Amino acid sequence: MPEGDTIFRTATVLRRALAGRVVTGFELVAPKVTPAAARRQVVGGTVKAVESNGKHLLITFTTDGEDVVLHTHMRMQGQWHVYRPGQRWWFAPSKARVVIRTDEYVAPCETPPVVELMTVREIALHPVLPELGPDVIADDFDLEEGLRRLRAQPERDIATAFLDQRTLSGIGNEIKNETLFITRTWPWTKIGELDDGELRRIVLAARELLRRNREGGPRRSRFVLDRRQLRSVQERRGLPCYECGTAIDVGFHPNEFRKSYYCPSCQPAPQPA
Ligand SMILES: [Zn+2]
Repeated sequence: MPEGDTIFRTATVLRRALAGRVVTGFELVAPKVTPAAARRQVVGGTVKAVESNGKHLLITFTTDGEDVVLHTHMRMQGQWHVYRPGQRWWFAPSKARVVIRTDEYVAPCETPPVVELMTVREIALHPVLPELGPDVIADDFDLEEGLRRLRAQPERDIATAFLDQRTLSGIGNEIKNETLFITRTWPWTKIGELDDGELRRIVLAARELLRRNREGGPRRSRFVLDRRQLRSVQERRGLPCYECGTAIDVGFHPNEFRKSYYCPSCQPAPQPA
């Protein structure tokens, strides 16, 4: 499932293939296009920038007028590919919702749920993007701003807060679950119950996991010799904890469909004093 590490890597690959190149073909299927962006001619322009913010990917093009930005978001499915022209694709071309062509490379995007094209001025008014929290994987991640956004809702539990992209951008369910295990945090711990040092340590553990996974390969949160043991808790319900042997359990959070996998012994609920 795409998380911030996947999209960061995708942006790196697309940037290497496309940045600075002249666009020779640009096809969108059922996109959301603003009227101002629809008037602009992308073919003939160049790919100006490829950036990721959390799970959002933004590609900026020069045009015959104002620059436009293509926004894709992968949610649970969707994937960018890069091919040489004429090379056979690894998925049915009918599933592509975006195709960017240059003389050197072709970049199709397979089934992204969100495809939007707007001008750079409009993207500043986008209902989701400007609201995104600091990007946890980014080199210039603003930890203090992340902590401030977490602290703004002290009644939320940490699992729910970590998945809210307006609080921190880029953490998905697997990274959240594994981070809470690594830091021995009960997933229902309220933000207000954690001191600054604890909260900082948990956020930085998530950042480290995302950054260790940004080069590719299967996502790992355990760095042990046995490569079958990639994860501590994620989707391991009923299996023994690698640390203590207790069966991994799963639980829910109010208004959040994503489950928490956790070890009841390693991540116990705090006992009342
Ligand atoms: Zn355990």
